[in-house]
Amino acid sequence: MAIEERIEEGVPLAGFTTLGVGGPARYFLSARSEDDLPAAFRFAEERGLEVFVLGGGSNLVVSDAGFDGLVIKIDLNGVGFGQPDEDGFVIAEVAAGEDWDAFVAECVSRELAGIECMSGIPGSIGGTPVQNVGAYGQEVAETIVSVRCFDRKLAEFVLLGNEDCRFSYRRSIFNTSESGRYVVVSVTFRLKAGGGPKVVYRDLKEHFGVRSPSLAEVRGAVLDIRRRKSMVIDPSDPNSRSAGSFFKNPIVSVAVHRAIAEAEGIEVPSFSAGEGLVKIPAAWLIERAGFAKGYRLGEAGISANHSLAIVNLARAKSADIFALMNKVRGAVRSRFGIELVPEPVFLGVENLLPQSVSESVV
Ligand SMILES: Cc1cc2nc3c(=O)[nH]c(=O)nc-3n(C[C@H](O)[C@H](O)[C@H](O)COP(=O)(O)OP(=O)(O)OC[C@H]3O[C@@H](n4cnc5c(N)ncnc54)[C@H](O)[C@@H]3O)c2cc1C
Repeated sequence: MAIEERIEEGVPLAGFTTLGVGGPARYFLSARSEDDLPAAFRFAEERGLEVFVLGGGSNLVVSDAGFDGLVIKIDLNGVGFGQPDEDGFVIAEVAAGEDWDAFVAECVSRELAGIECMSGIPGSIGGTPVQNVGAYGQEVAETIVSVRCFDRKLAEFVLLGNEDCRFSYRRSIFNTSESGRYVVVSVTFRLKAGGGPKVVYRDLKEHFGVRSPSLAEVRGAVLDIRRRKSMVIDPSDPNSRSAGSFFKNPIVSVAVHRAIAEAEGIEVPSFSAGEGLVKIPAAWLIERAGFAKGYRLGEAGISANHSLAIVNLARAKSADIFALMNKVRGAVRSRFGIELVPEPVFLGVENLLPQSVSESVV
């Protein structure tokens, strides 16, 4: 069928996101084969339309006005595992539309180590390199070998190596310097057959004590911890109707950290973030600025189980989400002088954020 006949009009987007807010896409295509991509971009170009690439919608806030362009939902499927090499590593090539957590579960059941701590993160495989997803001391940059993409600039498929992606904390070329250029069509991972799990995060260390757990036990523990924080999507848990962590943990200089501790008269939690820099948990700043878990503003709220998640209480509009976001940011700014940078991507929202928030180092 020609691409024009498969592209739908006026498709509501809220149901394609975990937060569940937002208006319609003017045009919408479910891309099921790589060949759909060049055809879809031609369709958009001929009509002067902007294009947005949608994965699992778990890191996304869509505006109430919707998106006046073409949304391409990546529904490419397929998972392939190779044989272990002489060092015991297995290569897995996974299409971008596959569910991330299903892939983690499959790797754990095959005793392949390297991504077990990222159990329970929602979204698609293709979304993972974009913000270099990570949790509990592990991030995808550690196991990604290459990312196959459709390059909109060259109008051809390209293979980017790990180094080309320039991964760092919640960043890659896909969400910074080359934002909007590449559509991820598959990701290749290198996993250790029979390898042990990574247990570096405090919650996990406390959970297992001196015992060496299996991959499956670490996956189980991570899922338990995440469920307690409503960080696993569960239709029966209203606190999981979110876009995950709404703000990045700000990185500040040691001097700024010390000044905050002096002004507050208490110890401020922090993690080292390289020479002269520390990362302060955004959740701590939010709570200290007056937003307890369960705080509500209209139809939006702070999760009752995690102060870093903004939730859709039931019938929220994106305007409710943004009102709460701005209130939190304003309070943290005036108390600590820190600009919290939102983690999700905003679609159909212009001039909402000042330029300054694109950099998280204060
Ligand atoms: C309850 C909850 C818990 C979460 N926990 C974590 C966590 O622990 N750690 C963490 O890092 N994140 C977490 N997240 C955020 C989110 O799950 C990840 O960022 C995820 O990888 C997003 O993937 P997605 O497919 O849903 O992307 P989407 O939300 O659909 O899109 C996000 C961005 O990626 C782009 N994108 C998506 N697919 C592609 C593609 N194939 N090619 C090019 N660009 C693409 C989109 O254009 C957009 O810019 C959480 C979210 C929720 C709701």
